Amino acid sequence: MTPCNLCPRKCNVDRSESLGWCKADDRIHISSIVIHKGEEPPVSGEKGIVNVFFPSCNMQCIYCQNWEISCRGTQGSVMTLDEVCDAIIELLPLSENNLGFVSPTHFVQQMVMIIEEVRRRGYNPTIIYNSNGYDLPETLRSLEKTVDVWLPDFKYSDDILAEELSQAPGYSKYALVSLKEMIHQTGATLYTDDHGIARRGIIVRHLVLPGFAENSTGVLELIAAEVSTGLHLSLMSQYYPTLRLKGTYPQSGETKPEIFKPLLGTVSHEEYLSVINAFNELGFTRGWLQEFDSQNTYRPNFSKKNPFEQL
Ligand code: SF4
Repeated sequence: MTPCNLCPRKCNVDRSESLGWCKADDRIHISSIVIHKGEEPPVSGEKGIVNVFFPSCNMQCIYCQNWEISCRGTQGSVMTLDEVCDAIIELLPLSENNLGFVSPTHFVQQMVMIIEEVRRRGYNPTIIYNSNGYDLPETLRSLEKTVDVWLPDFKYSDDILAEELSQAPGYSKYALVSLKEMIHQTGATLYTDDHGIARRGIIVRHLVLPGFAENSTGVLELIAAEVSTGLHLSLMSQYYPTLRLKGTYPQSGETKPEIFKPLLGTVSHEEYLSVINAFNELGFTRGWLQEFDSQNTYRPNFSKKNPFEQL
C-alpha cells in the first residue's frame, strides 16, 4: 500500500503494516451509520442525511463533543465494504438522498471505495464531505469527481490555540488552502434543489469557544480577506464542556492547564454577539447563526444506536 500522507501530518507510513499519528490502519472502521437530522437545514432537510461516522481523528481537540469516537486510536467496528454499503443503502430511501462522511480525512481512501460501490449498485446520493478542516489540498484534489458538497470546519485563526487545544500545528494555513481547493472544485455558491437541499457547493462551519471569541472573529476576518464573504457560514454556539474535559482537567504536564479553564464553561451571550457583529460588519450575509441556547440540544451519545436521538 502507498505510504499515508493524506493529511498535514504526512506520516509516510504504510498503514497495512504500521500506524501513523491518527492510529488508523488500512481497514474500514466505522463508528456508526445513521440518519441525522441535526445538521444545517439544506443538509438535513426534513428527512435527514445518512451520515457515516469514522472513528479516531487527525486532530485531538481537548473539548471535542464527539470525543467518545474521535479519541486517537478509537477503533469503531471493522466492517466489510458490502456491510457498509448495505447499511447505507437501507437508510438512503429514508433520507434526502444525501450521504455524509464525518471526519473522513484519515479515511479518505475507504470513503472513496464506499462511494464507488454505492454508485456501482445504482445509487447516486449527494456526497457531503464533513471534515475538521485539517486537510491537505492535494488529497482533496483527488476527490474532484467524488464530493458534491463540502462541509468543512474552520476552527482556528490562532495557530497557538490550534496547537494547544487540538494538537494541530499550522491549522489555519492548512484550513485556508484546503478551503480554496474546495471552492476551486465546486465554486463558492451553495446550490440547492427545489426542496432546499444542498446538491453542490460549500458550507463552512465554525464553533465558537468560550473565552476565545477573538479566535472566532479572526476566522471570519481570514475568510473575508482571503476567500469571500459570499460563502455560506454556519456559526455554532452549541459548545458545552464534555465529561471527558471535566474528567481529565487538568491534563498532563505537556499542556498548559490554564488555557483549558474557559472551556469548562459555555459561550457567553456577549461573546456570541461579538462574533455575530463581526459576521455582519465584515459583510457576510449567507448562512446560519445557531440560536444561543443550543448547548443542551446538540449532545450526541455514541453509546446509543442513534447518537443524535433527541435528549
Ligand atoms: S491520515 Fe493518519 S497516518 Fe495518514 S498522514 Fe494523517 S495522521 Fe498520518
